[in-house]
Amino acid sequence: REDPRRKPDWMKRIIPGGEKYTRIKSQLRELKLNTVCEEAKCPNIGECWSGGDTGTATATIMILGDTCTRGCRFCAVKTSRAPPPPDADEPAKVAEAIASWDLEYVVLTSVDRDDLPDQGSGHFAETVRRIKQRKPGMLVEALVPDFRGDPDCVEKVATSGLDVFAHNIETVQELQSSVRDRRANFQQSINVLKMAKLTGPRGVLTKTSIMLGCGETSSQVLETMARVRDAGVDVMTFGQYMRPTKKHMPVSEYVTPEAFENYRRIGMEMGFRYVASGPMVRSSYKAGEFYIKAMLD
Ligand code: SF4
Ligand code: SF4
Repeated sequence: REDPRRKPDWMKRIIPGGEKYTRIKSQLRELKLNTVCEEAKCPNIGECWSGGDTGTATATIMILGDTCTRGCRFCAVKTSRAPPPPDADEPAKVAEAIASWDLEYVVLTSVDRDDLPDQGSGHFAETVRRIKQRKPGMLVEALVPDFRGDPDCVEKVATSGLDVFAHNIETVQELQSSVRDRRANFQQSINVLKMAKLTGPRGVLTKTSIMLGCGETSSQVLETMARVRDAGVDVMTFGQYMRPTKKHMPVSEYVTPEAFENYRRIGMEMGFRYVASGPMVRSSYKAGEFYIKAMLD
């Protein structure tokens, strides 16, 4: 039998192209925005930036700096207990650039900022508000930290005018402490998603993601999906964990495309508004295109 930890053929990149992709890429140089899509060399950039058949192009932008106060075992972001303070002008600058970009759906994400009094929630909310002021039709997703479960922080972001409140539980309940930073846990993350649903305006979707290939069993995945759905979460995504360096947690297996498709089908039967599931899926994968299709249903 083949070694399940060997990278299989389905983990390959798609060459980006297309008219919209090219336009978005060339505009970026003038806007001086850094995207996670380019910096992480995401294999989905061609699909996300071209917007698919709904023409809804998606990109991910990181705010609040590049240094995290936590250290998860799967993550390559640099860490420090005291990162530099955030740039107070960032919400205005980023919003201005995003609003003048030919993009329909933006995912704002950040490192964890346990060092800040409001854990960065005000900065998130301000960035969303400014984007919506400049370009009301722009769809905005905030992919936020757990804010250590602080209801004020969650509410601040959930009521900022965003369209999708996302927070990733990352893995099944049983593997939380061996995968995520010790300050994170399953129940706290579930509570954050519930609070967002409760405090956010009607129509705001909640969303979460897990990585497969961390050592979970399929029954643990199914149980996790049920818990997530019970928390009223609207959207769930599944992707393959990829080890950033040898210092990080190893990949336990490469889950087959068929198994990913099975989780997608089961998730839809459970009542999620949409499920993105596949070896190359990241939580922001074609988020704009899926959002539009789910809302038209
Ligand atoms: Fe990486 Fe997020 Fe964990 Fe920080 S909290 S180490 S950015 S996954
Ligand atoms: Fe960017 Fe996310 Fe799409 Fe990758 S999956 S290209 S990071 S929006």
